[in-house]
Amino acid sequence: MELANRTELLGMDLKSLESYMQSLGEPRYRANQIFAWIYRKAVGSFYEMSDIPKELRLRLDAAAQVSIPRVLKQRVSADGTRKFLFEMNDKKRIEAVVIPQSRDKHTRYSLCISTQVGCPLGCLFCATGQSGFQRNLQTYEMVGQVLGSRREMTRKLKTDDQDLITNVVYMGMGEPMLNYDAVISSIRALNDHKGINIGQRHITISTAGEVQGIRRLAEEGLQVTLAISLHACNDELRDRLIPLNRKYPLQAVVEAVDHYTTRTNRRVTFEYIMLDDVNTSPEDARAMIALIKPLLANVNLIPYNEVSGLEYKKPSSARIRRFYNLLADAGLNVTLREEHGGDIEAACGQLSTARER
Ligand code: SF4
Repeated sequence: MELANRTELLGMDLKSLESYMQSLGEPRYRANQIFAWIYRKAVGSFYEMSDIPKELRLRLDAAAQVSIPRVLKQRVSADGTRKFLFEMNDKKRIEAVVIPQSRDKHTRYSLCISTQVGCPLGCLFCATGQSGFQRNLQTYEMVGQVLGSRREMTRKLKTDDQDLITNVVYMGMGEPMLNYDAVISSIRALNDHKGINIGQRHITISTAGEVQGIRRLAEEGLQVTLAISLHACNDELRDRLIPLNRKYPLQAVVEAVDHYTTRTNRRVTFEYIMLDDVNTSPEDARAMIALIKPLLANVNLIPYNEVSGLEYKKPSSARIRRFYNLLADAGLNVTLREEHGGDIEAACGQLSTARER
C-alpha cells in the first residue's frame, strides 16, 4: 500500500539518495546498493534488495517507496510493438509504447513515454487530446515508465539484459513542454551512466510548438533531439489542427527553432502527420519547403493512423509518395516513418486510456 508521507526514492540521483540514507543514520555505501537495485535491476520492493540488512529493509519499507508503476494491461502488435497501460499511485492511468528497432532476436527497443495524464492541448486528430487533461506526471512517474517497461520486457523475453531499451521518446500522452521541469529532471535521471544509462542523443522530446519550452531547452546544454509536431504549413490550417498555434503561430515556432539550432548546433526533426485531403497537396509541400529549407532540420512524414470516432483518413500510397518526392526533390532531408502498432492503437496520436478501462 502506498502512504502519502513516504519518501519517494525513484527519480533521486545518487547524491540525494546518499543524503537520504545519512538522514536515516546509515552509511553512504547503502545508497550505492539501493541505487543499483532501483535503476539497474528495476526492483521496487525493499524486501527483494537482498544485500540490505533485514532490519533496514523493514525501516525503509515504513519510511520510503520506489513507485515503479504496475502494468495493468498490455497489447502486442503483429509487428512486435507493445503498448503498456500503467497505473500510478493515485490510480491514474497512462500509456507507454515499446517499439522494436528491428525484427531479429537481438533487437533493441525504443520506448515512447507519457508526460501528462491526458493532454490540455486538444489537437484535433489526436485521441489523447480528445480525452481531456487530468494532471502532470512527476519525474519519478516518467522514470518509472522506463523501469516498468524494462522490467516487463525482460520478463517477457526471459532475459536479464537491462539495456534492451536504448531510446526514449517523450511523445506519448501529453505536451512535455507544459511539464518542463519534471521532464528535464527525468532526462537527467535516465541519462545517469551509473543507473539507467540512456545516452542523451538517444532521447527525443517532442512538442506541438510550445515556444517558451523550446527556448528554455536551448539553454539546458543537453544533447537530446528536439522534435516539432508540424502537421500544417499555414496558420489557418494549423490553428484548426493544433489549437496551440493560435498562441504560438508558425513564425514564432520557426524563430524558436532557429534560435535552438543556433545555440545547440543540433538538427531538429519536424514531424508531419499526413492526413488525406487535408495537408498533402502539392501546395502544402511547397509551403513546407519554404518554411523548413532555411532551417537545420529534417522532416519525418507519418501517414495518419486512423482513430475510431475521428474523421481523418490516411492518404493513398501514391499521394504519400508524390508528397515525399516533392520534398526530397527540393533538397529537404525527409524520411517516411515506418508505422508501428497501428493495429493495437499504439501509433502516433492513438493513445487514449479511455478505451482501455
Ligand atoms: S498530439 Fe500531443 S500535444 Fe496534441 S493533443 Fe495529442 S498528446 Fe497533446
